Amino acid sequence: MARDAVPREDGPVGRFAPSPSGPLHFGSLVSALASYLDSRSQNGDWLVRIDDLDAPRTTQGSEDAILQTLEAHHLLWDGVPTRQSDNQPHYTTALQQLADKGLLFFCTCSRKSQKGLQAYPGTCRANVCSVPDLNAQLALAAGDHRSALRLQVPDCDQPFHDELQGPQTTQLMRDGGDYVVLRRDGLISYQLAVVIDDARTGVTRVVRGADLLPTTGRQHHLHTQLGYTAPSWLHLPIVLNERHSKLSKQARSLAITTAHPSTNLNMALQLLGQQPPRDAHLWSATELVGWAIDHWVPAQLPATPAFENFFGW
Ligand SMILES: [Zn+2]
Repeated sequence: MARDAVPREDGPVGRFAPSPSGPLHFGSLVSALASYLDSRSQNGDWLVRIDDLDAPRTTQGSEDAILQTLEAHHLLWDGVPTRQSDNQPHYTTALQQLADKGLLFFCTCSRKSQKGLQAYPGTCRANVCSVPDLNAQLALAAGDHRSALRLQVPDCDQPFHDELQGPQTTQLMRDGGDYVVLRRDGLISYQLAVVIDDARTGVTRVVRGADLLPTTGRQHHLHTQLGYTAPSWLHLPIVLNERHSKLSKQARSLAITTAHPSTNLNMALQLLGQQPPRDAHLWSATELVGWAIDHWVPAQLPATPAFENFFGW
């Protein structure tokens, strides 16, 4: 069931939005914990959304495993977890809104032709998609689409503020350019879905990994284009392994277990620049998270782009 949350007047609404493509890994726990503490320390709400749009990458049992891991670490959400796969009608409405403004166009460029380009060069901009065209396209079965739909972006700077990384500016046309909102395989793109989901559920605060910082400018822009107020942003350093690659499900990063949640939380808190008590690993997850809410010091968050080789992983 979708939740139409009303933000509390006295605190932010944060969220954690894992994709169910595998169990939670340490990098995701760090993001979840930071987002949770950011909201709870300001008497805010914290939502969990399962970002399951990319059905081919969804693995069976991942959603339950992720939720159980969050619970074991005492990261308890408000309401019920929502799923992107339940939100298709809202994505369709947003696409119609954009098509109505003449901002969508059909793109038949191959992936190969885009290789090495920093931004989409606007090749197919003349193939404007009207609302009836869009509805016909949406009615096609997945896999039958011959073209993707891109959103035309203006040739201007999109400034936004990141609470940890400082002032940022994205030049929308140069930094990626017109981007895909409906994929050739019929799936809604992450870029569109994340904006609509956050806006609809009243999210006012997005705390996540800095790997998503480069696309935040376009998300900020899309919020305003659809008539929403963009949330405030905080991008955390990403956790890298000894090969300098991001911990991720694709890289088969170590899943965290629920056997020793306090040990995991203690490590994550240290990584986030907090100073848990010496014997914190002996506390229960409930006690440790309670302590962390009361002692959360955002000013101690490290503003580096990445944590290298943390604990030898
Ligand atoms: Zn094209």
